[in-house]
Amino acid sequence: MLIDNYNRVISYLRLSVTDNCNMRCQYCMPAEGVEFSPVKELLSWEEMFLLASTFIELGIKKIRITGGEPFVRKGLMDFLHKLASVDGLEEISITTNATLIGEHIATLKSLRILNVNVSMDSLDKNRFNAITRRDYFDVVLNNVHQLLQNGFNVKINCVVMNEQNTDDIIPFINFAHANNVDVRFLEEMPFNGHSKGFDRLEWDHVKIMDHITAHFPTVNRLHSVAGSTSENYTIENRKGSFGIIASFSRTFCGTCNRIRVSARGELQTCLYTSESVSFKKLLGQNRDMEIIKQAIHAAIRTRFKDGFEAEEKTVFKKSMSLIGG
Ligand code: SAM
Ligand code: SF4
Repeated sequence: MLIDNYNRVISYLRLSVTDNCNMRCQYCMPAEGVEFSPVKELLSWEEMFLLASTFIELGIKKIRITGGEPFVRKGLMDFLHKLASVDGLEEISITTNATLIGEHIATLKSLRILNVNVSMDSLDKNRFNAITRRDYFDVVLNNVHQLLQNGFNVKINCVVMNEQNTDDIIPFINFAHANNVDVRFLEEMPFNGHSKGFDRLEWDHVKIMDHITAHFPTVNRLHSVAGSTSENYTIENRKGSFGIIASFSRTFCGTCNRIRVSARGELQTCLYTSESVSFKKLLGQNRDMEIIKQAIHAAIRTRFKDGFEAEEKTVFKKSMSLIGG
């Protein structure tokens, strides 16, 4: 079992399979993109599988595949086939922009990979396309409906941005009701690939909640799932639910059960810190998985108490596409 220096059990790995993406969301990266890694600098699928299996041996129960956009990397589905057969892994989930998932829905279903988080920041086509700097609104919406019709557990992730998509909050609540899905509103974080981030957030979790309750006064808080970053609510007489993820305010660090591995094979023990171990390097030197296990344990034993401490003690402002969300 992986237990950190604050007694938090680490059971959830967010595994980024690529830093590349076919969108350019404004909150994630600049229009020209970021410096994407050449494929040879990424973990190969074989290395990724070896590493994932080692994490599972150590006690990881849930792996979320993320990116960049996971479906832009060739070979993802073969990797998922292999991963789905590893004993001890209880859940594989995916975070995606849902532009390329359509043709894989049947296979994902057959692999029982049914938890899919879709990033969608507006229900207005023009606004969506302006935020993502691409023209995929219809494809994404269609794929969301396909996923729902096929029985997937879909969560919509919407990053709330001042003066950009706050008019979408209530339409998304209505979308949750109409489609019986969960919509989660994320505080924006300063990981947009620009050297300059921001220190103050206009639309934090309190303001998002106030906005929602001004329209729907009776919201009921749901029991928190262990390690969850979102506070979840239902609205009286309405289907679906909504959640708020205080990713900037960092209200959830005390129960954080997650670690991240970037597509380049770097371990990141907190969203707000820099990488601590290069698995690519270790795997390249020799395949001694005992050394890798020791490196994982050592990193887990020196985690920061919370994202504020991590931010204070490390210099870190990069694009979320390199972290994996
Ligand atoms: N491309 C996939 C997608 O967009 O779902 C997976 C990778 S993306 C980096 C993972 C998550 O990070 C998405 O839900 C996205 O909205 C979120 N994200 C990216 N940049 C963010 C930022 N600056 N603040 C808050 N969330 C962000
Ligand atoms: Fe791509 Fe996801 Fe970043 Fe948008 S949030 S640019 S879809 S990696």
